[in-house]
Amino acid sequence: MSLNTNTRSVLKNTKLLVIKIGSELVRGEKIDQVNQPWMDALAADVKDFIATGKRVIIVSSGGVALGRKALNISNNIAPNNIPLAKKQAASAVGQFHLFNGFNKAFAMQNIQTAQVLLTMSETENRRMNLNARETLNTLLDHDIIPIINENDTVSTKEIRFGDNDRLSVRVAQMTRADTTLLLSTADGLYTDNPHTNPDATHLPIIEELTDEHFNMAGDAVAGLSTGGMKSKIEAAENAMKSGIDMVITEGRELNAFSNLLESENKKSSLFIAQKCKESAHKIWIGSHMKPNGCAIIDDGALAALKNSKNRSLLPIGVLEIQGDFKRGDVIEIKDSTGKRVGMGLSAYSAVHAVRIIGKPSKEIISVLGFSGRNSLIHRSDMVLI
Ligand code: GLU
Repeated sequence: MSLNTNTRSVLKNTKLLVIKIGSELVRGEKIDQVNQPWMDALAADVKDFIATGKRVIIVSSGGVALGRKALNISNNIAPNNIPLAKKQAASAVGQFHLFNGFNKAFAMQNIQTAQVLLTMSETENRRMNLNARETLNTLLDHDIIPIINENDTVSTKEIRFGDNDRLSVRVAQMTRADTTLLLSTADGLYTDNPHTNPDATHLPIIEELTDEHFNMAGDAVAGLSTGGMKSKIEAAENAMKSGIDMVITEGRELNAFSNLLESENKKSSLFIAQKCKESAHKIWIGSHMKPNGCAIIDDGALAALKNSKNRSLLPIGVLEIQGDFKRGDVIEIKDSTGKRVGMGLSAYSAVHAVRIIGKPSKEIISVLGFSGRNSLIHRSDMVLI
């Protein structure tokens, strides 16, 4: 079996693919120009792929990189060290060039594109998440390719994905895509840093992620990219848990995507999806990066939740409420030692929750003056870790 057999068979069976493209790939030789030949080649590859009945969504980085020159940001400054206001302004300049480049490339293939800018907080809001999903599905139904990036002009440190590795997995979860493909400057995961250790070996297939894999990834980030291998492994972990396969391959050469589909020897790392029985609703709850608060529960409640799938979290088993959340927000569930044991949608706001915790559910009506749900988090809105 060749290096690439497994990846090729996953892509062959994929119906909806999210392709994430790193900044280094879309940037031309001049800092403020897109690599149009590269984009043209990708559009031709995507056209061939969708001609076989498949659907594609693109998540591309490069907004900040392509706006650097206009904002006088030197190439020597790593993305994470650019002052926020300048970075946001750079993205406003660069995003136009980025989208324009893709739009031109796909127009040559007679394919329409649409620009979609998302923020983390929006995708963690149930209604906005559903709206974004509907928009993406409608675009796909009309054979329009969504070109997505984070809305960097409004995303502040606290509410941003930060790197598009995570964003691409969120998009895949949202749209129930089968696979996320990261076209990167790296051709996959190695047992060590291949630039410094000649004995480092490439891993073509990863069925289960362990601490060892996270150690292998290290923190190194090259050039204008934001996420390093570590953020890719974190994204892979999230994808695998949600039943989504992830592939990382080197994407700098022209037609890297079709090479991956056709060549026996193109290297890639394939992270195999777990069999996922969770509904889209529960995947969305479990993948929240910024829960709005927390319920600390007692040992009895923890045992009850763990021992039976049919149990909801009742107010009587909650020791403490933290944070300021509204009814319907996602909150963490922690045990009495502070360890996260689950996540769920709160049926009460924090203001109401603090008044009913420790009490039997039948007292809710007399304490609050209205009758709400018996549980603080209903089992259909809860994911245990
Ligand atoms: N959204 C950022 C940009 O367009 C990129 C984040 C990343 O590099 O992953 O520049």
